[in-house]
Amino acid sequence: MTTDAPPSYRYLDNAASAPLDPRALAAMLPWLATAQTAAHGFANPASLHGPGQGARTAVQNALAQIAHCLGARPDEITLTSGATEANNWAIRGLAETLSASGRPRHLVTTAIEHPSVREPVRWLERAGWRVTYAPVDREGFVHPDLLAQAMGDDTALVSIIHGHNEIGTVQPLDELIEVAHRHGALFHADAAQTVGKLPLNVARLPVDYLTFSAHKCYGPKGVGGLFARHDAPAPAPLLLGGGQQQGRRSGVENPALAVGFATALHYACEEAPAESRRLRTLGRRLLERLRIELQESRFRLILNGPEDFHRRLPGNAHFSLLCEGHAPLEGEALALQLDLRGIGVSSGSACHSGSLTPSASVLALGKTQAEATATLRVSLGRENDDSDVEALIAALPAVLRRVVPAGRL
Ligand code: PMP
Repeated sequence: MTTDAPPSYRYLDNAASAPLDPRALAAMLPWLATAQTAAHGFANPASLHGPGQGARTAVQNALAQIAHCLGARPDEITLTSGATEANNWAIRGLAETLSASGRPRHLVTTAIEHPSVREPVRWLERAGWRVTYAPVDREGFVHPDLLAQAMGDDTALVSIIHGHNEIGTVQPLDELIEVAHRHGALFHADAAQTVGKLPLNVARLPVDYLTFSAHKCYGPKGVGGLFARHDAPAPAPLLLGGGQQQGRRSGVENPALAVGFATALHYACEEAPAESRRLRTLGRRLLERLRIELQESRFRLILNGPEDFHRRLPGNAHFSLLCEGHAPLEGEALALQLDLRGIGVSSGSACHSGSLTPSASVLALGKTQAEATATLRVSLGRENDDSDVEALIAALPAVLRRVVPAGRL
């Protein structure tokens, strides 16, 4: 990929990371202050002096604001370095807590989890836990009745991704949580892609643990968190040390990141109803335009994830491009060609890109190797509009000619 994006670059990869909201940046700046400024915003929130207490208040206010956006209590929110840490903590920390309390060791998840859930689950398996992977249908949905079949009397924890970072499927969380609770199990959801984008209120949704990340909703990178319901077992800390955040996660809190996250989330939640409608319309239009553009060509477009855009992440379009009589196209090559023409998309998830192995999540939908290799993900965000969709459509013929030199549109 090119390193210096030209000024007219069209960034359509918001699921990988969304641009920082300028309002969040403005709120962060005082907390990045240097020794020369009067505010002493750099101080340690654990220090007892005035600047330290100022920093502490900023972190507490940020926690209260984040909690308010989610319908949680401030003491149910712990800040982490992002969703990766929150997922690791939820899975490994809970495993430790539940094992210590003598709970049986069975976990139910899916084959389409983000690597930051998938890998800790594998770690649990190596540590002797039994893991069942509930099946997903061709659009990536987990069906409550099939989840029920995966449950056992000994199931301690269910972990299911809310909005899928690649294929965009948004799970019916309320129905899945109901199944888990009926079987006496706790429920963790990785909501890194949905918090700040879809209505999510833990006062109404009885989820036990919820992972979120700031940079997916226009906040800074390097901060996210875990909601853990006050009456659910507390995950044992991963990070031991000075006992910050009520002993749940040691390490000096970063007021700038906390304030930036809280501000970005506040605006994202406020704007989500209108913005999600706009992005769904834009995503649907992109797909329609792609289908029209390719209908008379040798290329076949297969949408991955739900056909119903109301059941997808707003702005997500994930598809496979197949070419008759040609070896499978590589999503990476398509994304690279688009990048060279000033359009940033990805072949799958950013965590996955760089490797040419097909996405495990796409394969889990029952797709072929060719379909799972020739994938492109477009994730539209706040800064995108119709002109970006048109630019992508306009660039496509040249991109396809380049990737399949003998191909005619
Ligand atoms: N879960 C999901 C669903 C994600 O999309 C991501 C980011 N790709 C993560 C977890 C990890 O988030 P973070 O970058 O905050 O560690």
